[in-house]
Amino acid sequence: MAARVYYDDDADLSLLKNKTIAIIGYGSQGHAQAQNLRDSGCNVIIGQRPGGANYDLAVSHGFKPMSAADAAARGDMVNILLPDEVQGDIYRNDIRAHLKPGDLLMCSHGFNIHFGQVLPPKGVDAALVAPKGPGHLVRSEYEKGGGVPSLIALSEGAAETSRQLALAYAKGIGGTRGGVIETTFAEETETDLFGEQVVLCGGVSALVKAAFDTLVEAGYQPEMAYFECMHELKLIVDLFYQGGLNYMRYSVSNTAEYGDYTRGPRIVTDQTRAEMKKILTEIQSGQFARDWLLENRAGQASFHATRRRERSHPIELVGKQLRRMMTWIKAKEV
Ligand code: NDP
Ligand code: MG
Repeated sequence: MAARVYYDDDADLSLLKNKTIAIIGYGSQGHAQAQNLRDSGCNVIIGQRPGGANYDLAVSHGFKPMSAADAAARGDMVNILLPDEVQGDIYRNDIRAHLKPGDLLMCSHGFNIHFGQVLPPKGVDAALVAPKGPGHLVRSEYEKGGGVPSLIALSEGAAETSRQLALAYAKGIGGTRGGVIETTFAEETETDLFGEQVVLCGGVSALVKAAFDTLVEAGYQPEMAYFECMHELKLIVDLFYQGGLNYMRYSVSNTAEYGDYTRGPRIVTDQTRAEMKKILTEIQSGQFARDWLLENRAGQASFHATRRRERSHPIELVGKQLRRMMTWIKAKEV
């Protein structure tokens, strides 16, 4: 099944002419989407709490940030660009009461709407416009005349006018320059969580740590284990990014390619695939969402403890030293 893709000609910016777009949160996505929309001629207001760097940033960009409640009251399109774990409370406390029939409630990730933490009131449709890239790229590509490909989704039963407004919004942030793929709240939310858990964050980190530990336990120097199991990952991922698995296999030695075909499947086994299915089922059933929401209700107690423990894993200690020897990588420390 090929996905439906929209480009500039499929979207009409003039639909936004008489609309006030409220961006709630001036973080990674907020600062990028707000500035792109303004440069596209839209009327943009910002809801951002005072006292932090993002408030000052919004002011320095020429906005007059106000409370989330005031922005929601004035906006016809209200986009919640806060961290996913705080959206439910802020929506219930500051936003929901200010939405009127005909407003469009928006987001860039479906978690809260799909799992029922943000429930649009009667007469309000929900739309997702999700750039497939971080905010700084959404901004810098737009400034260069391009745009980051984006996803769009509409709540069930949404009016056709809401789809047209969401597409116009996607055009305003530059998304239709790159291409906008239509999805659903369920598909966007579930695939996003699955990707970050199984591959991007969870799977890769666990693989790297296990391989590092294996070499170090066998008596090899941690420095060697770091280079082989973590540092060089970037070279491989860059090849994936540019030309997929084929290009990686074309670029590496035949010895490496042979090892890939014969040993890789012994690492990701039928058992691993079964576990992936289980993780997917937990996402689909809402079990993961419930766990994470409850963790937040508990003040992130276990999340913080795990973060602390992970930060002192030996690969982090040796990595910190080695990265200081490689000035070109612009090493970061948290
Ligand atoms: P950020 O963490 O960068 O932005 C956070 C914003 O929310 C800041 O303005 C911050 O203000 C404000 N904020 C945080 N906590 C609170 C709070 N308790 N009360 C009031 N305001 C608060 O978020 P992102 O831009 O990363 O994410 C926004 C949405 O976009 C999410 O739904 C995310 O899933 C989605 N998304 C993010 C992408 C990314 O690459 N970052 C990519 C695609 C989608 P302050 O500075 O005062 O803390
Ligand atoms: Mg994501």
